[in-house]
Amino acid sequence: MRLVDLRSDTVTMPTAAMREAMYRAEVGDDVYGEDPTVNRLEELGARMTGKEASLFVASGTMGNQLAILAHTQRGDEILCEAESHIFFYEVGGLAVLAGVQAKTLAGHRGILTPEVVKPAIRPQDIHQPRSSLICLENTHNRAGGKCYPVETLAGIYTLAQAHTIPVHMDGARIFNAAARQQVAVEKLTAYADSVMFCLSKGLGAPVGSLLAGSRDFVETCRRYRKMLGGGMRQAGIIAAAGIVALSTMVERLEQDHAHARMLADAVANMGIGFDASDVETNIVVIDTMQSGKTAAELSACFAGQGIKISQFGNHKIRMVTHYGITRDDIQYTIDTMARIIKG
Ligand SMILES: *Cc1c(COP(=O)(O)O)cnc(C)c1O
Repeated sequence: MRLVDLRSDTVTMPTAAMREAMYRAEVGDDVYGEDPTVNRLEELGARMTGKEASLFVASGTMGNQLAILAHTQRGDEILCEAESHIFFYEVGGLAVLAGVQAKTLAGHRGILTPEVVKPAIRPQDIHQPRSSLICLENTHNRAGGKCYPVETLAGIYTLAQAHTIPVHMDGARIFNAAARQQVAVEKLTAYADSVMFCLSKGLGAPVGSLLAGSRDFVETCRRYRKMLGGGMRQAGIIAAAGIVALSTMVERLEQDHAHARMLADAVANMGIGFDASDVETNIVVIDTMQSGKTAAELSACFAGQGIKISQFGNHKIRMVTHYGITRDDIQYTIDTMARIIKG
């Protein structure tokens, strides 16, 4: 049977060029700062995001958590979107590691605006926690891969600066946002003090994320990374694949977007109230209510046909396009879904 894995863009396998680069990687002890391949990757990450420095970390979660640790003090409050990865999917790490609480704000399909953020900033008052960090997720995962408009990023950043509150961008899929908006990534990251992005999602690397910001910020994060056990030694072996990812896998994200669009346009014609314009990048989140089936039922039907998808609650499913998914796979998924919904 055909197998189509649309659960996530994390399921991508490394390319032949990545494996070759990993095999040949020049390595050293990165905790001593002596791994030339990690150093090259970190320089490249800094350059592409327009930041002074970047740090290679084990995962996106580690990158976000290090950023929160570095930007905040215990007892502070961070502002983040109610369905953000930092709040929803990081095992409560912000409370455990940084000792901060979250004030969650409802975005419009995941996207916050200065109007929503402004009233949430705490006044200086001995009774209240300090608002010490604003987190923005771009693209927004649970909202279905939504991008922040550049003006919105600029507006929030201006507001944050007026209150001297840093902005952290959870840019796990920032390259997808840049591809969609046809701008350089640094145009988007200019409106954040720090940014994390994943090498191991649409860019196809097997492991790792980068956390970029000022030189001071990155040095602080480097110490916290060591504290959390994330100081990796000959990490150039995996960093090598990250360099290939950034050099060869960025342009092709548009194909993933085209595939998601093809899927979205077809689902919009299935009479279940799906709006194709909600899909902007490589994530398709579908409300299943009008199909008369729960997410679990749909998921089981798909699985029976070799298609793997994610459940996002009782009546929501997510499908993610990525490297390794072909146009044919999408057609097969569309045909299968049409049959499931009719049957
Ligand atoms: C995947 C993801 C992360 C975390 O990345 P991991 O490498 O899986 O820890 C963080 N934020 C968003 C928006 C993500 O989609």
